[in-house]
Amino acid sequence: MIIESRALWLAETNCYLVAPAAGGPGLLIDAPPDLDGLAELVNRHHVVPVGLLLTHAHLDHEGGARDAAARWAMRAYLHPDDEWLARDPRLQLATLLGAEFPPEVADQFAPPDEFAGLSDGMVLDIAGVSLEVLHTPGHTPGHCCFLHHEEGVLFAGDHLFAGSVGRTDLPGGDHATLLRSMADKILPLPDETRVLPGHGPATTLALERRTNPFLQQV
Ligand SMILES: [Zn+2]
Ligand SMILES: [Zn+2]
Repeated sequence: MIIESRALWLAETNCYLVAPAAGGPGLLIDAPPDLDGLAELVNRHHVVPVGLLLTHAHLDHEGGARDAAARWAMRAYLHPDDEWLARDPRLQLATLLGAEFPPEVADQFAPPDEFAGLSDGMVLDIAGVSLEVLHTPGHTPGHCCFLHHEEGVLFAGDHLFAGSVGRTDLPGGDHATLLRSMADKILPLPDETRVLPGHGPATTLALERRTNPFLQQV
């Protein structure tokens, strides 16, 4: 199985290509606003993306969704509790970068016309890859992690990082909710679970349990 990542755009957002094998269909997890970077990742393995899963709707993960969905004629999946964020890139630019941008700039980050909806506990089977959706609100209301049971891999988005957790000071964020999601959905997973986050290096749940200060509060 191919699991390959690239850190793209200003925020060095890790997006992932997941595919059973080179030369066939695959899926993307998160789409930073850098179509060339996404295409390079895809082309290197000669994979045809047939679905885009979005951990959440922050611009650094979702801002390239419209272009990616159009380029590869695929659906983009997002939890409905994050649609309001996707539909307001101007608000996001203002809060992320601390500056007002004209509508034509914000329009570059506009979402696809529609999303396919994610919900907690659903199992997606896309391109021969089976992923369980874990709704983990806190960083954003609709944040989801994706779990590949057989490989023991968790695509953690901005919920859990090596040594840290997602910030909750942006619109819709809530730290207590994030810790509750951690306790309910993430901490019950096995120690050997590999955690592939939305920023920074990969880690394991065992290591985070021992060393991540935020998990000591849960
Ligand atoms: Zn985020
Ligand atoms: Zn992020």
